[in-house]
Amino acid sequence: MSTREEVKHDDRDPHDPSAQVPSEIPAGLDRRKFIMRSAVISAAAVMNGCSRAETERTAPPPAAAASESRVQGLAPAPAVPLDKDLNVVKKGKGPVMTTVDEFYKVGPGPSSSHTIGPMRITYDFYQQAAKLPADTLAKATRLQVNLFGSLSATGKGHGTERAALAGLVGKEPATVDPKFLDGLRDNPNQVFPVKLGNKSIDVSLKDVIYDATKGDFKHPNTMTVKLLGGDQVLLEQEYYSVGGGFIEWKGYTPPKKNQPKYPFATMKELRAHADNNKTTIAKIMLANEMSIAGRSEEEVNAFVDKIINAMVATVKSGLAMSEDDVLPGPIKLHSKAASVYKRALDDKYESDRGIGGLSAFALAASEENGRGHLVITAPTGGSAGVMPSLVYGLMEVRKVDRQKIRDGMLAAAGVGYLCKHHATLSAAEGGCQAEIGVASSMAAALIATAYDAPSLVVENAAESALEHHLGMTCDPVAGYVQVPCIERCAFGAVKAWTAYQIASNEIASRHRVNFDETVQALAQTAKDMNSKYKETSEAGLAQSVTLC
Ligand code: SF4
Repeated sequence: MSTREEVKHDDRDPHDPSAQVPSEIPAGLDRRKFIMRSAVISAAAVMNGCSRAETERTAPPPAAAASESRVQGLAPAPAVPLDKDLNVVKKGKGPVMTTVDEFYKVGPGPSSSHTIGPMRITYDFYQQAAKLPADTLAKATRLQVNLFGSLSATGKGHGTERAALAGLVGKEPATVDPKFLDGLRDNPNQVFPVKLGNKSIDVSLKDVIYDATKGDFKHPNTMTVKLLGGDQVLLEQEYYSVGGGFIEWKGYTPPKKNQPKYPFATMKELRAHADNNKTTIAKIMLANEMSIAGRSEEEVNAFVDKIINAMVATVKSGLAMSEDDVLPGPIKLHSKAASVYKRALDDKYESDRGIGGLSAFALAASEENGRGHLVITAPTGGSAGVMPSLVYGLMEVRKVDRQKIRDGMLAAAGVGYLCKHHATLSAAEGGCQAEIGVASSMAAALIATAYDAPSLVVENAAESALEHHLGMTCDPVAGYVQVPCIERCAFGAVKAWTAYQIASNEIASRHRVNFDETVQALAQTAKDMNSKYKETSEAGLAQSVTLC
């Protein structure tokens, strides 16, 4: 039976993320154990100055860890199921209801779930705490953040504590100065006063606690934030960073939304709206944004412009870095965007200059992510070089009109929404195909839309880019979003361009595979992928690359 037939006859609910928790975990091990072991090995490698591979050779193998549990008479820990009450688990039925401001987020890299989410969480708590009655605030003596699960196991490599502290002192992900986060890394003992009403409370990185990595959490990325008055808890909230910068909390109810003007749950339906109304996918997306969020066209445009400007800025700042810059972390990876750009400009052939330039733009934005500077989730931090490279190339190099770029951003959002709706944008659930694959697919839709391609060509370009990332695994070396992630963004950008080239030059009606079929394949491949290849740093390059 073919994979597609299997998908068609599979009666498991493809929208239920808990069903996507890997089923092929080595006996006695769960994903958290993989992540924890990897984090411990990486940290040990940094501390002892040896390579990760060398350190790993002396660490207990997963099988040994599993047998330890058996020796102690303990049942092997189960894979971490997502709690059914989480909104992120309930999603996926009915029409797409995502809006652009939920989808495209600006914030500090390198990870939407481990930096942007935690920073949004502590900023949310800070705002709540500031609204407490004056007599309650008068008793306040301390703010405390506790990180659990994956946030605790891998947060140090991501700078989660710095992001959490930044939110606590009132900094928002979209506007935080990256120098503030760099300063915290270089001078971690800084103390900041947090103003809550008439009260001022000093906070530092010591108030962000790396807590239990194992436990009965509702989500692998769980954290709590507390305002304390001595031993008394004045305010406490349990939060979840559920991926892509999205956050939830205990008792969360999703914001009320209006119905979309043009409901769709598939690309086929989205395109039918466009074709039947003799308009474009972008205009259907705009009408839905206005009806779901109750915003005017000007308001939607203003938000999309903010994202476009942030994408251009991230490429510019990445290109402006010194050619000798070394990215943070144990890999000691030299940035290369500036060198690749400079040298590509001297290439003899225009096509080589084009490919080299586009690659450099993607490297530039992705290296900014690796530095923990501001990036835009499109759809994630790891893939944050793909869309900006095309936006920059089209607008700043080819001088394509801004309105066309806005349209492209909306069509690309439609592609991303559908992948989120039916499959996943999370590497922990689906590997890199869900990050770079989706980003490349979105970028192909952006290019085709910006060049006024018919809706079928937009779909075909998006399909093609996604199809040729199916199966791509996630194996970041030492758990850092650098190798293979940074170059992968460049390849995702070039593949997006190739997809557009093929889609705009082929006979569109003869394109054999449709986008919805490929999204089904993405979901099924995510389910079937061995859990070692889902952001655990336990396989692939993360195993074979030696650090020193
Ligand atoms: S390899 Fe993993 S961490 Fe890196 S970009 Fe791909 S999905 Fe993200």
